[in-house]
Amino acid sequence: MSAVIKPENSVWNPACECMPRKDLEALQLERLKKVVQTAWDKVPYYRAKMEAAGVAPQDVRTLADVAQLPFTTKDDLRGCFPYQAFAVPLDDVVRIHASSGTTGQATVVGYTKQDLATWAELMARLQTAAGVTKSDVVQIAFGYGFFTGGLGHHYGVETVGAAVLPVSSGKSERQIQIMKDYGTTVLICTPSYGMYLAELIGQLDARKDLKLRLGLFGGEAWTDAMRQALQKGLGVFATDNYGLSEVMGPGVSCECVEQNGMHLAEDHFLPELIDPVTGDPAADPAQTGGELVLTTLTKEAIPVIRYRTRDLCTFLPGACPCGRTGRRMSKVSARSDDMLIIRGVNVYPQQIEEALLSIEGVAPHYQIEVSRAGALDELEVRVEVTENLFFDEMQKQQAMKEKIERKLETSLAVHAKVRLVEPGSTPRSEGKAVRVIDRRKKG
Ligand SMILES: [Zn+2]
Repeated sequence: MSAVIKPENSVWNPACECMPRKDLEALQLERLKKVVQTAWDKVPYYRAKMEAAGVAPQDVRTLADVAQLPFTTKDDLRGCFPYQAFAVPLDDVVRIHASSGTTGQATVVGYTKQDLATWAELMARLQTAAGVTKSDVVQIAFGYGFFTGGLGHHYGVETVGAAVLPVSSGKSERQIQIMKDYGTTVLICTPSYGMYLAELIGQLDARKDLKLRLGLFGGEAWTDAMRQALQKGLGVFATDNYGLSEVMGPGVSCECVEQNGMHLAEDHFLPELIDPVTGDPAADPAQTGGELVLTTLTKEAIPVIRYRTRDLCTFLPGACPCGRTGRRMSKVSARSDDMLIIRGVNVYPQQIEEALLSIEGVAPHYQIEVSRAGALDELEVRVEVTENLFFDEMQKQQAMKEKIERKLETSLAVHAKVRLVEPGSTPRSEGKAVRVIDRRKKG
């Protein structure tokens, strides 16, 4: 297998991405004032919320004043279905995306021509930060359609000037055939799908026929241990990126080749970290972090004020060697919606992933099941092990099972039952993986 090569550091738009903080903050304040005024003038929902909170656009005099404005939640946006959150007439809207969500009403996102131009620019920044150049052949294995991942990346690749293969998700053997036939150098998909493709490439012994060098993985929270597994399995340099359809789609922040935090596009989004319980500014953004809250600074069709992302992260201190001045957020350590409460202890699926992948012989495929036996919550983790171990003697299997249980108990502070399963037996995903089955929930 060829070694993973770190790409060169280059910046798509140095004037914006490397802007001195003082200038950036002045620009943010000017844009914040404008977006709050627009929301007040054009979207009755925002005006009602601001009036109820006793604030008006003229109260925003500094960037810190954003904290006086009311939050917007996913439910608020759902309540605006389909067009009540729009600040422009439909005549000016040229694209509509929606996030399905697993439950309830979809949230709708609209874009004006200018919004699409902004998005393409932010995606070009993201791709360039990850090492993509105009010489690349980029295979997009994100779903196209209402989901923002596919088309979002698509326009970014075209803006950079690389060649885009708009394959969409699924048909995994065909994905690999396309990689071979067209000489794909960059793969874009969810990390769980990337892992599945890596496995399939191994089974087909196709690695030697591929030119893959970069992997851009987003759309779900993943750990650094998963990065190592993806880099090894696909032979790519792997970077993370972040976004959500409610505020635009991917492109909100992206990792540069330093692989150390994702630079927020702060000229287009004003980020805050809050305590998810009290809603106050996070006490220690660099250490304990908090929930990311975003205000769109330039979006025309749907301005979004203080959107609660439910994503937990920290802001990394210090400057990045790449020269970008946009603050770096850590990988999303957890989505507060994903938190499991097991016998009173908070457990995040990412903690389980981190613990599992630190053990030699564990494959990056697992599933978590929570059930209730009488009054007690039961946590079971089904873990795939490598072929050799699975067919190994019982004694070795038992030792492995106990090793994983000990590791999980140390990092979760709660006991998890481990079941070793045959390679290939947990479900594979072509989009976002279903890692958790919670049987305690009704319906
Ligand atoms: Zn950087």
